[in-house]
Amino acid sequence: MSGVILVLNAGSSSLKFAVFTLPAAAPDGTPARGAGTLEARFSGQVEGIGATPHLIARDAAGTRLLDERWAGGGAPEHHAAALGEIIRWLEGVLGGQPVIAVGHRVVHGGPDYAEPMLIDLGVMAELQDLVPLAPLHQPHNLSGIAAAARRFRGVPQVACFDTAFHRTQPFVADTFGLPPEFHARGIRRYGFHGLSYEYIARRIAAEDPALGAGRLVVAHLGNGASLCAIAGGRSQGSSMGFTALDGVPMGTRCGQLDPGVVLHMIDTLGMGTAEVTKLLYGNSGLKGLSGVSQDVREIEAAGGEAAERALGYFAYRVRREIAALAASLGGIDALVFTAGIGENARALRGRICEGLGFMGIAIDTARNAANAPEISPPGSTVRVLVRRTDEERMIAEHTLAVIRGHG
Ligand code: ADP
Repeated sequence: MSGVILVLNAGSSSLKFAVFTLPAAAPDGTPARGAGTLEARFSGQVEGIGATPHLIARDAAGTRLLDERWAGGGAPEHHAAALGEIIRWLEGVLGGQPVIAVGHRVVHGGPDYAEPMLIDLGVMAELQDLVPLAPLHQPHNLSGIAAAARRFRGVPQVACFDTAFHRTQPFVADTFGLPPEFHARGIRRYGFHGLSYEYIARRIAAEDPALGAGRLVVAHLGNGASLCAIAGGRSQGSSMGFTALDGVPMGTRCGQLDPGVVLHMIDTLGMGTAEVTKLLYGNSGLKGLSGVSQDVREIEAAGGEAAERALGYFAYRVRREIAALAASLGGIDALVFTAGIGENARALRGRICEGLGFMGIAIDTARNAANAPEISPPGSTVRVLVRRTDEERMIAEHTLAVIRGHG
């Protein structure tokens, strides 16, 4: 088997991609190196699909190889056309290496998909049935699959779900306090960012098997943000619930909200559901509180009382969630920060950990300022780690495993 795996992540107005080369095979045909040794080659995205599209592509070192804005016309107007542009560029740089499989990020796998799946017409129909569970994301994921299936006829397409990793959660972490028929009808705490958590759990286990077998809280803090309790490499609970709105505040999403607030907005304030949806998904969280931006760097640069309150609220809610998830595990061996804020926002990371000394969490100021891989002082009861997440690699590894499993 030789060629590349293409990873696609289709959002509402963006199509992200990554390309991985398969591990070289030994002369006798057996894979020379196992899964996890896929070589990252290219990545990038088309943003602004439907408005002013912009294609960026980079090599594995992050060097920008392409920056296309179609100033002379011919910009892609939908996902299929954007994929066509990506492939046109890839064909030039791949030198004839075939795409042997396409791995897709799919936000929702519902209650049943606990593992990546080879996509066929039956799976596609079931994923379509899950659209009401993630109306803002799932349709775009599915249009990405449809576009790739048309472009790569006969090439295996694999769906990798953001919810799948959490299907190991016990009932108490999976349910709401509602009568059981609602759980049976799919109203559950699905949890998201599963591909990121799975990548981190595997990486920690590869680095330190004893720690990987232990108890972790992983804080995936990006534009979307959630935390996950992991024991023995398996998800035991997540801050996100039925949708990607719950839990800690995010760039533009509110995080945990008393459901009575939504009822009040609709019944008393006379807001329509579309208006409430827009508010909770697009104009809340860091952006809503700060009135400045959804971006932590811009909020930090702006300063002022509203910015300070937004960052303070974010740190407070994340700190609470760390302690809550740690309590659900009966204590933790490590806290792992990942994603844009978790990997880079030193001041906010330090602020989140303030006051967690009672549960053995401390930060070494110099290590934290250096974004060191371990930011707790030597000999700490709970290690505090910073790791870069790589959801695209996780999707590529799953895709390779699925196609190998299917011969
Ligand atoms: P997404 O969920 O869109 O993938 P990211 O994981 O890229 O998001 O995270 C984006 C967030 O990371 C933004 O709030 C951004 O401000 C923050 N971030 C990235 N780099 C830094 C930095 N050096 N300092 C502070 N915040 C940062």
